[in-house]
Amino acid sequence: MTSNDTASSLAINGGRPVRDAILPYGRQSVDESDIQAVLEVLRSDWLTTGPRVEEFEEALRHEVGAAHAVSFSSGTAALHGAVFAAGLGPGDEAITTPMTFCATANCVLYQGAQPVFADVLAGTLNIDPEAVERRLTPRTRALLPVDYTGHPADLDPILEIAARRGLTVIEDACHALGARYRGRRVGSISHLSVFSFHPVKHVTTAEGGAVTTDDPELARKLRLFRNHGIDREFRERQARGTWSYGMVALGYNYRLNDLQCALGTSQLRRLPASVSRRQEIAQRYREGLGGCAALRPLEVRDDVSHAYHLFVIQTEPSRLTVDRDRFFAALRAEGIGANVHYVPVHLHPYYQERVGTGPGLCPVAEAAYERIVSLPMFAAMSDHDVADVLAALSKVVAAFQC
Ligand SMILES: *Cc1c(COP(=O)(O)O)cnc(C)c1O
Repeated sequence: MTSNDTASSLAINGGRPVRDAILPYGRQSVDESDIQAVLEVLRSDWLTTGPRVEEFEEALRHEVGAAHAVSFSSGTAALHGAVFAAGLGPGDEAITTPMTFCATANCVLYQGAQPVFADVLAGTLNIDPEAVERRLTPRTRALLPVDYTGHPADLDPILEIAARRGLTVIEDACHALGARYRGRRVGSISHLSVFSFHPVKHVTTAEGGAVTTDDPELARKLRLFRNHGIDREFRERQARGTWSYGMVALGYNYRLNDLQCALGTSQLRRLPASVSRRQEIAQRYREGLGGCAALRPLEVRDDVSHAYHLFVIQTEPSRLTVDRDRFFAALRAEGIGANVHYVPVHLHPYYQERVGTGPGLCPVAEAAYERIVSLPMFAAMSDHDVADVLAALSKVVAAFQC
């Protein structure tokens, strides 16, 4: 085939797509045991904060090796709780990464504090500890690394800075349930670790989140915050036969319910299998992309076990005649539900207009943003699905390589 023939075979040019139905970039796995677990709760006495909540928190804290787990109604609510527990308020700063979902930084704003963006490392796109160092000021109160794609951030140097300056480390581990850093489980490393149970994440409760910590005082504040700032939960009051309670802080209703927690506990049992399937898929992608100079997967450091919430590749501009957006459109047309994670937070209109950030603040992240594409990655993907993604990539690269 000439390269003209290759181009005309592309679905974006009217050719036949690799897949007729779109393969999403992520989706949940719900099995019969999950369904039974939820049905049981519907037939029980408690629908909201009942025994299934404690059971889920116990299973989660056990899974990650932390002393406490406190569930929340979403990952965003959990981040908000962590920022509250860390004591951030007006006048304080928290240093975070731009390569994340906007919720990571929004939560700092919720409490009236200022998010400050430090640039990322070019290999993993995780926050660069040296860039963190450069953003420290006397107002810095917390560090908020994100385990981007499920690859743990370089936590030891971050914890070292925090120890030296008396800061709290809030790790946004929403991508990294089941990951390890230098042999330690994510969720047991930072002062506060935050998880999300949105359907695209490793374990789902439909919507949901949690914070894990070893510090009993932080755990107490988290529980307070998710229940209106009230010092005693309803079930505890009922067990003690008392009506009295005090509202001691301004909290929210951020509770996760028994239906969701029953689903979460059931899902958590399959976490190890889900992570190893994702690692297997990543391995196939790496092998399939091995000889392709136009597409480069992110780096994996040898001191981590990667949980692969996402599999991100970068397009190599010098090897392609099209930019990422055109490459992305061609891939979508082939039936591959690629995505882009993320628009760097400091480039969002709200941040530019109201927080005063803008282009040039984090050049490594901004350059990466022009090149990144997330490939489909979820435990229920079949080997055939993975082969389709690789076939579509090689078809699109063949048409657009220079
Ligand atoms: C999913 C996610 C969140 C927010 O979680 P929700 O449960 O959707 O509120 C926060 N940070 C990161 C990095 C995420 O991926």
